[in-house]
Amino acid sequence: MQLSRRDFSRLSALTAVSAALPRVQAQDDAQQPSGRKLGWCIVGLGRISMEHFMPGVADSKTGKLTALVSGHREKAEKQAAMYNIPSPSIYGYDNFDEIRNDKTIDAVYIALPNSMHAEYTIRAAKAGKHVLCEKPMATSLSDCRAMIEACQKHNVKLMIAYRCQYNTLHLKAIDLIRSGALGQVQIIEAAFGFDIQPTFVLDGVRSPEWRINRKLSGGGPMLDVGIYCLNASRYLTGEEPTDIKANSSVIDHDGRFNDVEENDGWTLKFPSGILASCNTTYGANGAAFFKVQGSKGWMEMNPAFSYDKMHLTAHTADGQDIDMPEEEHDPVDFRKQADYFADCVWNNKEPKTDGQEGLRDMTYISQIFQSAGLKGL
Ligand code: NAD
Repeated sequence: MQLSRRDFSRLSALTAVSAALPRVQAQDDAQQPSGRKLGWCIVGLGRISMEHFMPGVADSKTGKLTALVSGHREKAEKQAAMYNIPSPSIYGYDNFDEIRNDKTIDAVYIALPNSMHAEYTIRAAKAGKHVLCEKPMATSLSDCRAMIEACQKHNVKLMIAYRCQYNTLHLKAIDLIRSGALGQVQIIEAAFGFDIQPTFVLDGVRSPEWRINRKLSGGGPMLDVGIYCLNASRYLTGEEPTDIKANSSVIDHDGRFNDVEENDGWTLKFPSGILASCNTTYGANGAAFFKVQGSKGWMEMNPAFSYDKMHLTAHTADGQDIDMPEEEHDPVDFRKQADYFADCVWNNKEPKTDGQEGLRDMTYISQIFQSAGLKGL
């Protein structure tokens, strides 16, 4: 077989990826006690759970959907039928605490509006169930601390669903930086945003968008999608920012941004001197990338934060051109998260994106808000 230079670059890049895989592969080594799968209870049947996480669990070797929590019985019955979940395992928010007696449930996945994450994490911990909670962890630092404390007290795992930290190309990007392939990283740029609409349609039903309601969201695009840029800046550098400066704005006075900001831009300075410049918007579609400039090479992932079709390109210090489009498809990262979490539960490992990781991002977001003249968390 003849390999072109491009094939060769991609092959060597993939070889480097597999060398970097222990962080991902741990999940494949997950020991299933007596062959039993991890039983998942899905809390909140919305866009992320129905379109991504539930198909991800259904694809996994380690997990099984065993229960649902929803305020809409008809929707829940439909989903239950799709995944062979028995009707008695459909709970409402009022009888949620009864999950304590449901032996088919090992873990809950919390996919509710941000301000509800803390309450349901704490109630799940009290019921003795492990928790995978969507990002952002919560809407206040005190809620984050209470979630960590409850999970510790009740001896259950708490993981925040930072899916990109389980994605093959993001792990490759981290590896390229750590191996020195770009020289000393100097500058990072990252952006993620979309043009938010006041309502959305799911399964034929139109609902108001809770993301622009501060009481439910805790803030605008920063907490929702800007957090990807913040989190990526931290895992790409492997450092924690020591200086943060930010601005926010509202441009479109059309009613969508009466309650939350429309745009946030911020810079992070890391101890090494690396500067990250990030922005996020609810007013424009398109940006979902990061770029890294090193003293001897560069790297770009674009898109970097989509559900699949991510694309990594780089030019390394030794003159190698890397061109790696993502070859796996959604819901692969959700399956990987579920498998990784099962491994943490069964082998008593602390998830790498644990409650402290969620709290760190929330602390920096609070500082970003304060620097931008908004109320901190
Ligand atoms: P969604 O609006 O589609 O779903 C929210 C669910 O919560 C719905 O089932 C809704 O019925 C339920 N709910 C219960 N009480 C509610 C209330 N008072 N108001 C509104 N809904 C209520 O939202 P989503 O896009 O699925 O987001 C859910 C969570 O997942 C958020 O925290 C979000 O940040 C996170 N998320 C993560 C990713 C990711 O890639 N990791 C992507 C999208 C969303």
